[in-house]
Amino acid sequence: MTTSLVGGPALAQTRRIVTEIPGPRSVELAQRRAAALPAGLNSAAGVFIAAAGGGVVVDVDGNSFIDLGSGIAVTTVGNSAPSVVGRAAEQLARYTHTCYLNIPYEPYIEVAERLNALTPGDHEKRTALFSTGAEAVENAVKYARIATGRDAVVVFDHAFHGRSLLTMTMTAKNQPYKHGFGPFAPEVYRAPMAYPFRWPSGPQNCAAEAFSQFQTLIDAQLGADQVACVVVEPIQGEGGFIVPAEGFLRSVADFCRDRGILLVADEVQTGIARTGAWFASEHEGLVPDLITTAKGLGGGLPLAAVTGRADIMDRAHSGGIGGTYAGNPVACAAALGVFDEIERNDLIGRARDIGELITRELRGIAARTDIVGEIRGRGAMIAVELVKPGSREPHKDAVAALARHCHDNGVLVLTAGTFGNVLRFLPPLSISDELLTEAFDVIRDGFASL
Ligand SMILES: *Cc1c(COP(=O)(O)O)cnc(C)c1O
Repeated sequence: MTTSLVGGPALAQTRRIVTEIPGPRSVELAQRRAAALPAGLNSAAGVFIAAAGGGVVVDVDGNSFIDLGSGIAVTTVGNSAPSVVGRAAEQLARYTHTCYLNIPYEPYIEVAERLNALTPGDHEKRTALFSTGAEAVENAVKYARIATGRDAVVVFDHAFHGRSLLTMTMTAKNQPYKHGFGPFAPEVYRAPMAYPFRWPSGPQNCAAEAFSQFQTLIDAQLGADQVACVVVEPIQGEGGFIVPAEGFLRSVADFCRDRGILLVADEVQTGIARTGAWFASEHEGLVPDLITTAKGLGGGLPLAAVTGRADIMDRAHSGGIGGTYAGNPVACAAALGVFDEIERNDLIGRARDIGELITRELRGIAARTDIVGEIRGRGAMIAVELVKPGSREPHKDAVAALARHCHDNGVLVLTAGTFGNVLRFLPPLSISDELLTEAFDVIRDGFASL
């Protein structure tokens, strides 16, 4: 059941469908999965992977798919990217684990130094490493609470922050993330997000009205001196790549600074070159007190971070923050490879170019259909929100049909959105223009056949 395919950029960069989707070997593995794994652990693609790299994913039946998902914004520098594999392999052979709290090691410090230098703001910073995005968000809240001595956490509509008890509570969407998994963590409050496309009185009023409601929640209902932090994704990921109305995040940041509330930017999905900047906060000139990263950071190995003001992070006592695997040395080495790939190949510029190409393709499609509500996002993080013709009513069925069409024809896409009516594009930055253009030929056919 193994194939001798090697991943990385050496993999043939072609779309190729040679069996039905899923093919016989994937079907066989799906049967074994059904017998061995809980029913809820099913997957969108339906095929099992054999190798990946550049802009393609090859399955166990030899089908080669164009990758527009990057394992949800994780393999941003490409799957099995050369510097990631090289650095991680070297580290694997040297030592795999010590637990940083027992015996520290240099790669951890190097990742922290890089993140301290790259994140917005020239204040003194510290970085603590973890393994998953949810863990980073939880620990950002722990740092905010101990530094402020306050309990309340304010989050937004359409937010996604993870699946642990605290972060599931902070996540907005009931299905599938919260349903039946309560009771939830206390002291989490939700404000409206400045979502221009769905703002009731229109996009022109969105930033000001959303800010006014946010202010009322904190000043009138919670009491500003009870609020430890506001946690926000600078572009909401699972919520459907919602770019907050221009100016909203800056107003939130100023408000927080005035009241001693810490601003946490959850850049788990948007960070590490994805949006055409190292961090999406930069697009709005935001300097968050704490920033969480994960996904793209480890190049596919589990690594996450909280980076923030030294005076905040130094407040947590010894032993209070950490984890057995937190900041694993192999994952740290992989992250150093990620930084190398981004700098050596100007992947930040590449993310911007990819965003322009995708937006151009989507505008071409939108001109020929009446179900495109909005095209939005930044850099290589672009989405299209679909609606019933002549309305703003979410068109979830169209998104499901398009995703199926894409998968059957060799293009891996992801869906998103509170209403399930968003198709999102997160290609690896190692993908070629040729593959991207070919993927959009398939997507255009999908729209035409709806
Ligand atoms: C994916 C994601 C998380 C959770 O990360 P995990 O590694 O799945 O725990 C948190 N916040 C945002 C914005 C995310 O996109």
